[in-house]
Amino acid sequence: MAEGERELVRFENVDGIGVITVDNPPVNALSPGVPEGIIAAVERGNADPAIRAMVLIGAGRSFIAGADIRQFGTRRPVVLGKRPHDVLDASRKPVVAAIHGYALGGGLEIALAANYRIAVPSAKVGLPEVLIGILPGSGGTQRMPRLVGPKKALELITSGRHVPAPEAHQLGIIDELLPEGADLREAALAFARRVADVRPVPRIRDRDGKLAEAKVDPGMFDAFRKSIARRARNQKAPYHCIDAIEAACTVSFDEGVKRERELFDELENSDEARALRYAFFAEREVNKLPDIPRDTKLRPTDNPAVIGAGTMGGGIAMSFADNGFDVKITDATPEALERGMARIRANYETSVKRGSLGADEMEKRLARIHPVESYDDIADCDVVIEAAFEQIPIKEEIFKKLDAVMKPGAILFSNTSGIDIDIMANATTRPQDVAGTHFFAPANVMKLFEVVKGSKSAPDVLATAMDLGRKIGKVSGLAGNGDGFVANRSRAPFSMEMIIMLEEGALPEQVDKVMVDFGYPIGPFATSDLSGLDIGYDTRKRRAAQYPNYRKQPIADRIVEAGRLGQKNGKGWYRYEPGERTPYPDPEVARIITQTAAEMGVEQRSFTDDEILRRLLFASVNEACRILDEGKVWRASDVDVMWLHGFGFPRYRGGLMYWADMIGVREVYNQIAAWHQRYGERWAPSPLLRRLAEAGTPLREAKAEGGLR
Ligand code: NAD
Repeated sequence: MAEGERELVRFENVDGIGVITVDNPPVNALSPGVPEGIIAAVERGNADPAIRAMVLIGAGRSFIAGADIRQFGTRRPVVLGKRPHDVLDASRKPVVAAIHGYALGGGLEIALAANYRIAVPSAKVGLPEVLIGILPGSGGTQRMPRLVGPKKALELITSGRHVPAPEAHQLGIIDELLPEGADLREAALAFARRVADVRPVPRIRDRDGKLAEAKVDPGMFDAFRKSIARRARNQKAPYHCIDAIEAACTVSFDEGVKRERELFDELENSDEARALRYAFFAEREVNKLPDIPRDTKLRPTDNPAVIGAGTMGGGIAMSFADNGFDVKITDATPEALERGMARIRANYETSVKRGSLGADEMEKRLARIHPVESYDDIADCDVVIEAAFEQIPIKEEIFKKLDAVMKPGAILFSNTSGIDIDIMANATTRPQDVAGTHFFAPANVMKLFEVVKGSKSAPDVLATAMDLGRKIGKVSGLAGNGDGFVANRSRAPFSMEMIIMLEEGALPEQVDKVMVDFGYPIGPFATSDLSGLDIGYDTRKRRAAQYPNYRKQPIADRIVEAGRLGQKNGKGWYRYEPGERTPYPDPEVARIITQTAAEMGVEQRSFTDDEILRRLLFASVNEACRILDEGKVWRASDVDVMWLHGFGFPRYRGGLMYWADMIGVREVYNQIAAWHQRYGERWAPSPLLRRLAEAGTPLREAKAEGGLR
């Protein structure tokens, strides 16, 4: 064993029990040296006659949280012919995996190769490989079905979900669940002593009782393939997972492991695995604020308040409550506040009805949301998020009032979707404490938390905002202050093109089908129906008044003027049956479109799917380049993160800019330049896009030169 490796994995003899401690902070990932260390320790325990059994445990806050993702897709030196699970398989003395924190992916695979598993109640286990486009490649697909049965293994491995220890115990993944507060190491030592003499040592690989499930119901694999067809469309990894689990039921363990490895190798460098790894790292990168020191002291946020108990304010309060915060909420009138609280309750009740939330959990969360009627009641809060009407005078007045009552140092955020943050900041005597925190509807569901930097926002306020987003389960992204900020601004040209294509002869259902086939959960027109068409209508009128060159969208206006407001009144771009959410194409919509196009004198033609896709997404790529050029976002990859979490862009395509790179920056530029000739100014290529195309630099590498403005 080389010198450096000795520290990553320690071995000590505690009264005849070999304690193997993995110590690779922060989460004991399986980086180079760790597997080797485990192999050496298990071999040492076997060779030492003084050792009767072994305990495998993680130092710090976790067992082994998983593989080191940086290792995937790189050429790795083959140092050893054997892997930890082979050595654990060969162990003649029992090994007890003692789990706290996380045992995920490769970490759980090692625990599964041990002979016993015990865990504290707060631990989580899982095989999340599918989420990065691969499969558990170290025996996980072979051992899990032997442990929990193939049916359950299919669910666990193709969803990649984290399984809480109590559930893992029920499923048999964990042999012993410790009581709350138990000392894991002591309990593991006691367990190891109890089983020290069991021979032969029990191994999951030798159990095949549960596999009989597949003999009784051999059609289960095809049935499962069908059942995931929609959610797994365009992806390989979930299907490879199923193939590997099926192999576990049809061939020997060793052959199954071989098959698993072949399937893993096919996936490791697939387009989807690369895109998913990119997304994973983009999500880390987005947290880095290059101009703010990493050790900036954050302000407290334990005690939050929300102003405005409407659609967004209610969802924001729920986000806090869902993540363990006590939150105060207020509105302009007691009636509005009461209505807001009733709506929050109704939202939770829907989740309870759907089975995604327990009734007592609902009560717990509701009890954390405290309606208050006066600003004095929130004066000592650490942070306030304003979500009142989108009107400048109202926001100004609220920020004046907050300025008067809030304790010094309290942070004041606005959830405005479009108003200049400086307007709110300048209504106070403490503009440095003001910034934007832009949630996406529904606020308790959508993960994007767009932090908007006002021209005077203090660095610690921005760093605290980013951190707060993570604390309420969101993905934070920083935007400069500018019309529409980053997410909505980059999405706006997409929305424009989808309407313009209707003028030219496309239909909503055609556009939606293209985008759903591409990977969006629902199409953009169906999404508009869900949000309500009146919002866009008002925004267009405002913009038309504000910008003389604003491109009008007569078809969209006519739809609203025909009384079609979306799902809420049963008709929008589609029609809806009472009480249903399924969109049905509506001949009246087709009629409005053809008629309006004729009045506009636009020639009708047909579109290919690829043309629709490119028209929508290239328009946004071009705008994202402008945003970067103006220094309103740090990195192109930040835009990608915003699209993944704000708009449902398919993750296995990496993100808007990553996807465009797969087509190639030059081709994107050439197409945009051609459309500029054909359609005019709105397609003028952004200067940054031109520069990138000339240099052949991938879009995803673009950064704000000169910092965030
Ligand atoms: P909403 O109309 O549903 O709710 C606004 C609430 O604010 C109402 O309950 C109203 O009574 C209350 N209110 C009005 N004036 C107030 C005052 N002076 N003091 C306290 N409360 C007051 O609107 P919404 O959709 O929740 O939007 C709220 C904010 O969030 C707006 O700034 C909007 O632009 C922004 N936003 C909305 C969305 C969205 O999709 N709806 C998305 C992102 C951001």
